Amino acid sequence: MGAGPAGLLLSHLLHQAGVRSVVLETRSRAYVEQRVRAGVLEDGTRQILLRAGVGERMERQGLVHEGVNFAFEGSLLHFDFPALTGGHTITVYGQQEVVKDLIRARLDAGGDVRFEAEAVRLEDLDGVVRVYYRNPDGSEDCLEADFVAGCDGSQGICRGWLPDSVRRVHQRAYPFAWLGILAEAPPASHELIYVNHHRGFALFSMRSPHLSRNYIQVRAEETLEEWPDERIWEELQRRLDRAAQITVGPVREKSLAPLRSLVVEPMQHGRLFLAGDAAHVVPPTGAKGLNLAVCDVVVLARALVDYYRRGEEAGLRAYTDRCLEHVWQAEHFSWWMTQLLHRLDDPFEEGMQRAQLRALRRSEAARRYLAENYTGVHTSLRYVDWVPAG
Ligand SMILES: Cc1cc2nc3c(=O)[nH]c(=O)nc-3n(C[C@H](O)[C@H](O)[C@H](O)COP(=O)(O)OP(=O)(O)OC[C@H]3O[C@@H](n4cnc5c(N)ncnc54)[C@H](O)[C@@H]3O)c2cc1C
Repeated sequence: MGAGPAGLLLSHLLHQAGVRSVVLETRSRAYVEQRVRAGVLEDGTRQILLRAGVGERMERQGLVHEGVNFAFEGSLLHFDFPALTGGHTITVYGQQEVVKDLIRARLDAGGDVRFEAEAVRLEDLDGVVRVYYRNPDGSEDCLEADFVAGCDGSQGICRGWLPDSVRRVHQRAYPFAWLGILAEAPPASHELIYVNHHRGFALFSMRSPHLSRNYIQVRAEETLEEWPDERIWEELQRRLDRAAQITVGPVREKSLAPLRSLVVEPMQHGRLFLAGDAAHVVPPTGAKGLNLAVCDVVVLARALVDYYRRGEEAGLRAYTDRCLEHVWQAEHFSWWMTQLLHRLDDPFEEGMQRAQLRALRRSEAARRYLAENYTGVHTSLRYVDWVPAG
């Protein structure tokens, strides 16, 4: 369920192993191919997509970055990823491009991806599962399946089908949001700049050498109407200060996203398995959401293939425990980055931030912790070998 990165990659990996699947997606193909969201791929995610045979365009058009920068206390701190991690980098490649590549791969292989098909309810999660879905004309159809993968994102229905008696939801809401713009303007720097500033956090990122993707921290209750383009550009430059100069350009897309952390346990019930944002949400500060979705479905694909090839159920039974290992690691990193870089309006918390930021400047070990997490040493890089070479 869901034609985001999780659902599409799972369907693709299953197809490569000869297992048939149907993808139901409530939105149109054009909508999901244009939805602007994440854009940083861990080294492991890049390698997984390549091994799965869907990374050719990413290799040509993605921007390989060897580090990121933190701007705080009036100067820049550079994290040299290859030096700190034994050679790993990140790739900047828009999530919508990953989605386009996966849809093309599924359709070229004759895959069954049903757009504008909204799943509305599930029945018999312990037997042959029935999935009811609504067509654009309002009529309902039903699919019968051995398994359902709930890859329907943070607003989907699958999470709600875990019975109340087993579902535990752990969450944290932050008192701020990210106002993001995608603009036709060259990025402020060739690498990402994360800014800790007394006016609030800012992130200077990009989707290509001509497209900037920038964010500022705003209060959770603020609205887009309060932020005309001119005010956003002014605020971005104030927070970037002298670290770099921004170039202003037409704003193509503007969004407001509240920040939260959420983990659902267990990630399975009967023959329903949750993957990606359906099971967990991270604040975007650590750039982990898309990468976690990829980790989950690699674990799930292997468990399903073991079941179909050898009748082994151990992988399916262990699914939640395996995933929670990388999920909590990424939850911690995303929470840590969020606490470290945002304006918190609490003198004690700000003292903690200063101490941690200065430790990053002084200590290579502290910088290595960040670099390992950012490039996926503890998440996607652990699963590259799980994907059969395509
Ligand atoms: C608004 C927003 C902005 C984000 N920005 C960033 C960012 O800047 N950086 C970053 O690192 N991460 C970002 N993320 C996180 C990242 O994009 C997600 O972690 C990633 O999309 C997870 O992939 P997924 O496949 O699990 O879920 P999704 O990509 O959300 O895909 C789920 C799919 O399921 C479909 N669906 C939902 N309900 C149903 C239903 N009932 N029936 C059928 N289909 C259904 C949805 O339409 C959707 O296509 C953002 C997320 C959001 C929501």
